[in-house]
Amino acid sequence: MEEKMNSPLILNGKELSKKLREKLKEEIKDFLSKGYRKPGLAVILVGNDPASLIYVKNKIKACKSIGIESFFFHLEENITTQELLDLIAELNNREDIDGILVQLPLPKSVNQKEIISAILPSKDVDGFHPENMGKLIAQIEDGFIPCTPLGIDLLMSHYGIEVKGKDVVIVGAGFIVGRPLSSLLLWRNATVTVCHIYTKDISKFTRSADILISATGIPHLIKEDMVSEGTVVIDVGISKVEGKIVGDVDFEKVKRKALAITPVPGGVGPMTVTALLMNTLKSYKKRNLL
Ligand code: NAD
Repeated sequence: MEEKMNSPLILNGKELSKKLREKLKEEIKDFLSKGYRKPGLAVILVGNDPASLIYVKNKIKACKSIGIESFFFHLEENITTQELLDLIAELNNREDIDGILVQLPLPKSVNQKEIISAILPSKDVDGFHPENMGKLIAQIEDGFIPCTPLGIDLLMSHYGIEVKGKDVVIVGAGFIVGRPLSSLLLWRNATVTVCHIYTKDISKFTRSADILISATGIPHLIKEDMVSEGTVVIDVGISKVEGKIVGDVDFEKVKRKALAITPVPGGVGPMTVTALLMNTLKSYKKRNLL
């Protein structure tokens, strides 16, 4: 039996990131040649979660590759909320630091919401401070948009994927991806549906999507029969299965039906880091009146 084969557009976040980072590097080089200091990003990691450690190392490496100075604070698992608040207060006041990133999740013993709220909104390059989240909903452009939603927005716009007027279905309503992404896509005039663990039948929604974005962390949650022909599929999920990194989407099967699709790895992941670099440079320029 002949199987229908479709060759979708692969939304290559790794390649786009390379181009965007090259531009950022040039921009920074230009500022340095004019006598400005280096942009600075503080990265705080509490504990030794292996996945978090890899994410943090990637971010630090990316900073270095384009000329952003990173300041790494690797803290003990048993740190108190107060000790972390004291460190953030110190970093808020440092002239050489433009962005402060606290790698999430924090250990349960630390009050995560209190920590995020203590970061100066103007240095909150992750965009998780309530003020920046509020600005995203209120469509006020001078805030920081969280890195994964911003990275997805850049990726779609680079590949000419029109969002305006489209039916976008997001699976996953987390605070890091699903929720801020829904606000950003409303900003772009999409019709947005957000599904989550309590949604009765996610297939009912996924099948009607023009653009389907999955951000749950459940490996291969999105199967071929849940996707209609011609859908744009964005996979945010990162899970490890038998030592291999996989996304939320059953890529090999779903790609036969997709108009365009992101790979995992090499899709949304690198775009998230690139968006962090962009947010850090945005803060740097604002703080140096550039
Ligand atoms: P989260 O735990 O905050 O949210 C997960 C969401 O998925 C929740 O709303 C939950 O209700 C929903 N969900 C869980 N199981 C479901 C199911 N069976 N059906 C429907 N909905 C379901 O997670 P998060 O921080 O938003 O991250 C989600 C995934 O994205 C993780 O795999 C994470 O590693 C990944 N992630 C990737 C990047 C990247 O750069 N690619 C960035 C951030 C997060």
